[in-house]
Amino acid sequence: MSVKVRFAPSPTGMLHIGNVRTALITWLFARNQGGSYLLRIDDTDQERSKVEYEQAIEESLTWLGLDWDDKAHQRKRLDKYEAAIQKLKNDGRLYACYETAEELNLKRKSQLSRGKPPIYDRAALSLTKDQISKYETEGRSPHWRFKLNDEPIIWNDMVRGEVKFDGALLSDPVLIREDGSPLYHLCSVIDDIDFGITHVVRGEDHVSNTAMHKQMFEALGAKAPEFSHLPLISDAEGGKLSKRLGALSVLDLRDKEGLEPMAVNSLLARMGSSDAIEPFLSLEPLVKNFDFTRFSRGTPKFDTDELMRLNARILHEKEFSAVKSRLEELGLSGVTEDFWLAVRPNIEKLREAKDWWDVANGPVKPEIEDRAYIDDAVSVLPSSPWNENTWKEWTDAVKEKTGRKGKDLFMPLRKALTGMGHGPELAVLLPLIGPEKAKQRLEKDAA
Ligand code: GLU
Repeated sequence: MSVKVRFAPSPTGMLHIGNVRTALITWLFARNQGGSYLLRIDDTDQERSKVEYEQAIEESLTWLGLDWDDKAHQRKRLDKYEAAIQKLKNDGRLYACYETAEELNLKRKSQLSRGKPPIYDRAALSLTKDQISKYETEGRSPHWRFKLNDEPIIWNDMVRGEVKFDGALLSDPVLIREDGSPLYHLCSVIDDIDFGITHVVRGEDHVSNTAMHKQMFEALGAKAPEFSHLPLISDAEGGKLSKRLGALSVLDLRDKEGLEPMAVNSLLARMGSSDAIEPFLSLEPLVKNFDFTRFSRGTPKFDTDELMRLNARILHEKEFSAVKSRLEELGLSGVTEDFWLAVRPNIEKLREAKDWWDVANGPVKPEIEDRAYIDDAVSVLPSSPWNENTWKEWTDAVKEKTGRKGKDLFMPLRKALTGMGHGPELAVLLPLIGPEKAKQRLEKDAA
C-alpha cells in the first residue's frame, strides 16, 4: 500500500517554527516512502479562517521547498460529510445535546470542585421527549456529540510507542455545532478516510484527539491510519516557544531575518532526533536518510544561535549561480563570482553581502584625519594585482615606514578607505576595492 499523508493547517494564522516542523517531517516521510502529500486546509472555523493565511501558508511551504500533490478544503466538502453523519446518528453514536455553553461551564466547575475530571455526563442521553420538545420550543437547537465506547484505546505510535487511553475517561467530543456546521474532529476523520490517508503525523497536543478519532474511524467502518505524534518544541530554556525567532512566522524568517530556507529545514528536520544537526544545501539527503525511529519523545529545544550558525554555514557553501539573482535583487547589479567567493565566508546572512558591496564599490566618503600618515601609507601601497595577502603586505610596510602598530596603524586606513570605523574585514575588502579606487579614496583632498 503506498503511503499517503496530509498536512492539515487551519488557516487562522501564519506558519511558524512549531507547525512548520510537522509540515516538514510529514513531507520528508512521504518523499522517503515515495508516497503522496495532501495539503488539507482545515477551514471549518468560518470566522477565524482567512484566505490571506491560506496564501501565506502556501507561500511558506513553497519557500521551504515542500511541494504537495493534492489540495483540499474542508469547507468545500460539507456535502461529503452528510452520509457519515447520518450513519453515526442511525447507529446511536451521534446524539443531540441541548446544554448551553453556560450550563456546560457550570457542570465542569461543579465536577472540578468535587475533585472529578470534567467529563461530559451524558445527561442528554436521558432526556425525555417532553424535555426535548420543551427545549425546541424555547428555540434551542442541539449540538451533537460522538458517543465514545467505554473501552481501552490502544495504538502503536511511530514516535511515542504504545499509547493507551481509557474511553471511559474521555469526554464525548462535540462533532456538530448548534448551527449544524461540522467540527474539526468529524471533518478530519472523514477526510482521512476519503483521501485514503495511511499515516497521520501531528503534534502531541493531538494525542487525546487521536484516541477519540480511533473510535470514530471504527464507528465509520474504516481502518484507522498509523499515527505519529511529535513532541512540541520548547525554547532553549525549556519554556514555551514564544520568544525571538521561535515566535516568528516562516515568512518573517525569510523577510525580516533574511534566512535561507535550508537553514530552517536543516534544523527542523533533525531537532529532537538522534541524527546530528548539520547544514544541508538541499532536501534530497534529508529525504534519503529520513527515519521515524530516530525521533524521541523528549522535548526538542529550539536554539536561535544554532539556526544562525546553520544559515552561515549554508551560505559559505553556496554556489554563485544559486545566489546571483538574489544578490541582484539586493541591489548588487553587475555582481561577479569573484565578489561572491571573497565575501561568502564572511557573512552570516545573504543581505550582509550588500554592506561589502557598498564599501567595495562606493561611493564612500573617506575620513582622513592625519593626512601625512595616509600619504606615507600610500607611498608603500603594494603593486597590483591585489589578493588576500595584500593587506598584510601593505600594513607590514606601513609599520616599517611609520613605526605605528595595532589600532593606530589600521584604523586611519580603514576610515580613509571605507569612511567608517567598523565594517567588513579589510584583508578581504582591499582586493575588492582594487588599487584604483583605493588610491582615489586615500588621496582624496590630498594637498
Ligand atoms: N487543523 C489541525 C491543526 O492545525 C490539524 C490537526 C491534524 O493534523 O489532524 O492542529
